[in-house]
Amino acid sequence: MAIMTDSPQPENPENTEINEPDKAAEGPATAVPVIIGNRPLAPGELQMRAPRRGKPPVHLADLTATERTEHLKSLGHQGFRAKQLSKHYFEHFTTDPEQMTDLPAAQRAEITAVVFPKLLTEVSVQLADQGRTVKTLWRLHDGSLVESVLMRYKDRTTICVSSQAGCGMNCPFCATGQAGLTRNMSTAEIIEQVRIANQQLAAGQVAGGPGRVTNLVFMGMGEPMANYKAVAASVRRLTDSRPDGFGMSARNVTVSTVGLLPAIEKLTQEGIPCTLAISIHAPDNELRDELVPINQRYKIDDVLDAARTYFDTTGRRVSIEYALIRDINDQAWRADLLGRMLTARGGAGWIHVNPIPLNPVPNSKWTASDPRVEEEFVETLRSYGISTTVRDTRGSDIDGACGQLAATIVEDARHREDREARVGRVELIAAAPHLEGNSRG
Ligand code: SAH
Repeated sequence: MAIMTDSPQPENPENTEINEPDKAAEGPATAVPVIIGNRPLAPGELQMRAPRRGKPPVHLADLTATERTEHLKSLGHQGFRAKQLSKHYFEHFTTDPEQMTDLPAAQRAEITAVVFPKLLTEVSVQLADQGRTVKTLWRLHDGSLVESVLMRYKDRTTICVSSQAGCGMNCPFCATGQAGLTRNMSTAEIIEQVRIANQQLAAGQVAGGPGRVTNLVFMGMGEPMANYKAVAASVRRLTDSRPDGFGMSARNVTVSTVGLLPAIEKLTQEGIPCTLAISIHAPDNELRDELVPINQRYKIDDVLDAARTYFDTTGRRVSIEYALIRDINDQAWRADLLGRMLTARGGAGWIHVNPIPLNPVPNSKWTASDPRVEEEFVETLRSYGISTTVRDTRGSDIDGACGQLAATIVEDARHREDREARVGRVELIAAAPHLEGNSRG
């Protein structure tokens, strides 16, 4: 039985709508340890709420176009400066006062200092694929560390951004989940990852020639739907037309979630324009309870129903992510069950499945599936008419691929014992025969 604890700190007002810490909590009452910064989570423990830390300073990218005008006026400047500053930021990707020749020379430094406080400091950069994959480690104002990964393909340039420092979802096969949640990122901290990438691309500093970010996935560190407000606002900033935002196409912005049901429903109701991806990793509750511990609170059937409603409401095909872990979740019967569960919700046209060969993470002996097993898994899904494509493992050699982003991993002896016990439990569940039988029915 999982332990579900929440940070004992006062509520974070930004997240109260989404996190219902106690209402649905099950499991034995356990002493709640005080969280100071991040710490390893016990197996199955969820950390829904970010520890309270000093908020980053307000930045232009935190604000809507209307709020920007108000903000400038409140600082004693003329309202129309907001548009000029937005152009510099969202069209020219700059925060450098020297380049803002349309601002009065005497005020440039002062204005930019307040509207563009430095939120991200580059700590290190790692390159792969002849420089076409770039992983950057950033330090935030309070010392928290996050990563982003830029990937250039023939037809697109994708950035994978972080939405939280650390993650509280504790999926045992993901490196980020091992150190717990440090804090939520602000909208501007998320957007700055994109602005800086765009600046470097525009200046031709990234291999592959000048360009710009065309696609964005919330698949870096963190669970985006546990930081709903900032992520929803970021999607607006990304997709709003220039100069209010970057003017990206909404279908090219993907929010990936473990399945935080209330947040998926909110996204649906609010009509936030983006593509939804759900991390499934197992079709059966027994195994999913272990691999994606939030399943103990929000069951897979309900999450898939919500995903279908998202499709019905937005017309956007939903992505299903499935990390293929050798001998854990890659059995043909699990592919078959997944195929049945998806098509039972109205055919195959509403869904796209993205199996991801497991990327290695520290302290774990789990590996990717055998290629023949992967092939069978894919073919089984395709036999249901489900569009299925295996995700590439870009960046895995610089630990920049899915599930490999982790700025710090702290593990003590007790945590290691707990983790090993969980691995043993998962392996038992994984190997148990499927009672329903594995034939299509
Ligand atoms: N918290 C979000 C975003 C996480 S990263 C989510 O869980 O959806 C994006 C994807 O990478 C998720 O589907 C995640 O489950 C998957 N992933 C995590 N660890 C992985 C690993 N070691 N190998 C392959 N995929 C992994």
